[in-house]
Amino acid sequence: MQGINKVGIFTSGGDAPGMNACIRSAVRTALHDGLSVMGIYHGYQGMIDRNFSEMNSRSVSNIIQLGGTILKTARCRDFQSPEGRKQAYEHIRAAGIDALIAIGGDGTFTGAEVFSREHDIPVVCVPGTIDNDLYGTDFTLGYDTATNTVIEAIDKIRDTAASHDRLFFVEVMGRDSGCIALNAGIAGGAEAILLPEKETAIEALCDQLSLAASSNKSSTIVIVAEGEKNGGAYHVAREVKARFDFYDTKVTILGHLQRGGSPSSFDRVLASRLGFAAVRQLLAGETRIMVGIQGNKITSTPLTEALSNKAVKLEKDMLEMVKVLAI
Ligand code: ATP
Repeated sequence: MQGINKVGIFTSGGDAPGMNACIRSAVRTALHDGLSVMGIYHGYQGMIDRNFSEMNSRSVSNIIQLGGTILKTARCRDFQSPEGRKQAYEHIRAAGIDALIAIGGDGTFTGAEVFSREHDIPVVCVPGTIDNDLYGTDFTLGYDTATNTVIEAIDKIRDTAASHDRLFFVEVMGRDSGCIALNAGIAGGAEAILLPEKETAIEALCDQLSLAASSNKSSTIVIVAEGEKNGGAYHVAREVKARFDFYDTKVTILGHLQRGGSPSSFDRVLASRLGFAAVRQLLAGETRIMVGIQGNKITSTPLTEALSNKAVKLEKDMLEMVKVLAI
């Protein structure tokens, strides 16, 4: 495909704080560089439903501080079939779109990669997911904000836990990635953290809790990532209670409140940098890449490489540190 005149931009998969700041940045960079911009609503579903709207600089006024995504998001089954993607391609071409910027997670990238190859349309992806589970970038959009939201919740739970001498199990998001659990747990002074990446036996956890209790702690907080292998916070709490009833035990599931809220300054700046870079990479002739940040430098990684490698963002010494700091 020769020359880019109109870029289509969309968000897909789970929403994440910072997506709007990224939309704003990509739209304004594209306009500045002489391109037209089409917003595609509800991710891939919007391509199939022809849900498009021309965007100008004012379309993205006053959104940098908003959580969620003004372009909406969706999970689209039809896009997983070649017929669905063919229909999507016909619709975006009819709308004059000749390049795409996709903001989302690995599912979104998988769809973008196959779509771009099948129909020879340039695509640049931006990592937007609170899980921080993508290879090729130190951080994904929304992760910093979500971690701060969890820390705020832990601080509040600590107040009530300490007043009643309670043991709290706080379940946080992370089916496969323990990034939020580990970092929010450390920042919130958690006594133990259970992660999807590392199995923790209930007996070992009880030993840790006994140690905390024997040093006259007035409260204990255990952070449980939703994908940890024992079966989630309620299950762990029941198992612990059966073996160790020193404390009054409570469970809090933070759930979807972790996805919402105004993006942190870190996420706003990252989103601005990645949206800007995505447009510039498209104009430089790049395709099927993810823009990311590594060591404060904006980088690009082929989608095939991003999708075939596992992100390793948990340093072993951090879990050891959690134990040391819990004495
Ligand atoms: P999150 O990490 O927040 O869940 P995600 O981008 O991984 O975000 P998914 O629901 O996995 O979210 O994927 C988003 C959309 O990408 C899917 O609804 C589907 O339309 C498309 N998609 C995912 N996998 C494929 C695939 N193998 N082929 C084509 N499209 C796909």
